[in-house]
Parts: sequence; structure tokens; C-alpha cells
Amino acid sequence: MEVATRGLLRSESLHEDDMLELRASCEHCGRSLPPNSTDARICTFECTFCRECVEGVLANVCPNCGGGFEPRPVRPRHLLAKHPARADEVRKVVDLLAFGPLREARRGIAPQDR
Ligand SMILES: [Zn+2]
Ligand SMILES: [Zn+2]
Repeated sequence: MEVATRGLLRSESLHEDDMLELRASCEHCGRSLPPNSTDARICTFECTFCRECVEGVLANVCPNCGGGFEPRPVRPRHLLAKHPARADEVRKVVDLLAFGPLREARRGIAPQDR
């Protein structure tokens, strides 16, 4: 395709595995996080939580990897049919008692320095 090098059509060549996984809800509280949500937060491994959980109970420490979170990029609507969000729910309520020590050890360290 001659216009394939023009950004917008680049997605034509993407494989499913190359894409950010858009999970449907917060891993901890289960709140719905649709692909256009501006409240979705992800870590480098795509662990997905809502903004409230990240800023509140997690203190910007991923309970799975110890890294920080960033806002999840919104996937443009016109690409969702071809590259849909993940359908099944990923739910793993954080064991706050077990997570506490990790959170307290990391929360004062900027994610780029962990
Ligand atoms: Zn949440
Ligand atoms: Zn993580």
C-alpha cells in the first residue's frame, strides 16, 4: 500500500502481539475501564488499574512488579474493530497486608529510580 508509511495506516502491519493490551477493568476494584477511558493506568507490563486505586491504595507502586504507573493511551476509535480491547476480565484483588511492605519501601522512590 503506497500510503502505508503515513502513520495512520501503519496499524495495517501490526500483529496482535505487538499491541498494548487494553484490559477492560481495574485489576483491584473491578471498575470498568473502556478503551477511551482517561482514568486507566498501566505499568510497563500492562498491569491495569484505575486512577483512584493507583493514587490511593497503591501509592503509584505496582503490586505485581514494583514499578510505577502512567496513563494508558487511548486507542483511536476507528481501530477498535480491527484491534479490540481484551474481552475477558483480569481481576486480582491486591492483598493489601502482603503488599504493604513493598509499597512502603517503594513509594518514596521515583519510578525512574526503582
Ligand atoms: Zn480500581
Ligand atoms: Zn506491574
